[in-house]
Amino acid sequence: KNTGKGRYATFQPHHHAVQVERERLQVDLEQALDAEQLVLHYQPLVDLASGRVTGYEALLRWQHPHRGLVSPADFIPLAESSGIIVPIGRWVLREATQQAAGWQHSGPPDGVHVSVNVSVRQFRHPDLVRDVADALRRSGLPGHLLTLEITESLFATDIADVTSTLERLKDLGVRLALDDFGTGYSSLSYLRHFPFDTLKIDKSFIEGIDVNRQNQAVAGAIVTLGQTLDLSLVAEGIETSGELRSLEALGVQLGQGFHLGRPGPAALVCPSPGIRPADRRDLGSVGAPLR
Ligand code: C2E
Ligand code: MG
Ligand code: MG
Ligand code: MG
Repeated sequence: KNTGKGRYATFQPHHHAVQVERERLQVDLEQALDAEQLVLHYQPLVDLASGRVTGYEALLRWQHPHRGLVSPADFIPLAESSGIIVPIGRWVLREATQQAAGWQHSGPPDGVHVSVNVSVRQFRHPDLVRDVADALRRSGLPGHLLTLEITESLFATDIADVTSTLERLKDLGVRLALDDFGTGYSSLSYLRHFPFDTLKIDKSFIEGIDVNRQNQAVAGAIVTLGQTLDLSLVAEGIETSGELRSLEALGVQLGQGFHLGRPGPAALVCPSPGIRPADRRDLGSVGAPLR
């Protein structure tokens, strides 16, 4: 109002259009699960020293009837704000554990892990622990082969509730990873108090780590922190062989990234023992066009 009527008229239609667009996408998203438009792609986690695939991260994709493949970055926030992330997240848990249970027959003897991302709203929902237990029971997947990935934004409030949920999840035998580590809230005290198994070093610190001294310093500090607290480390977003070599030199055991394998449909990721990433390049490109 202070800026006058002219401005109001200029901005209003744009804002309105964005809002209408959001609402349309929202309506479509409500139906996506029932319409079987959601699909999981899987990206390998690789042991950097041996090149062996130790597990896969499940990454959600929405095959929209008109818009094509919609990125999770575009619809997860929408699913969060409406609450529909809860049934969607339940489906992801069931689907990923079922898939991983199937892999155990053909995979290496120590098992193939699957990682599932859990958003804040889903984590806070009273059904989460039951949903995880239910997915393990239905699939028969041992709890230690499921990792739940959580981000630091969880620690913004309600620490007592978060702690109790994390402990009940650990009682199921699942592993807990802190995703995108280093990008969120700065208090590190929760690392000591909460039962995490793994830190995933955010890809923004991996980029150019072979040449960028600031990233070397940050990643090095995270590695030291992880080793001191006895947490396993995963480097996210490895895109070059130079980055890979630097991370190995830093002592990071596991990595993920386009250089090691792109996310792809389950049918294209076959976890045979000892397949090196170099042998997987052909598979990788099939699942490549995600955004
Ligand atoms: P995230 O869990 O940190 O997943 C890693 C993201 O980095 C994925 O993006 C993956 O495709 C991408 N990525 C992997 N390697 C590379 C690389 O070398 N370079 C670059 N630039 N990117 C790489 P994606 O699949 O688009 O997912 C984005 C985010 O959406 C995820 O980040 C996660 O926070 C969220 N998300 C995905 N699936 C789910 C889900 O089932 N549930 C929930 N709640 N969130 C999900
Ligand atoms: Mg993740
Ligand atoms: Mg991440
Ligand atoms: Mg992320």
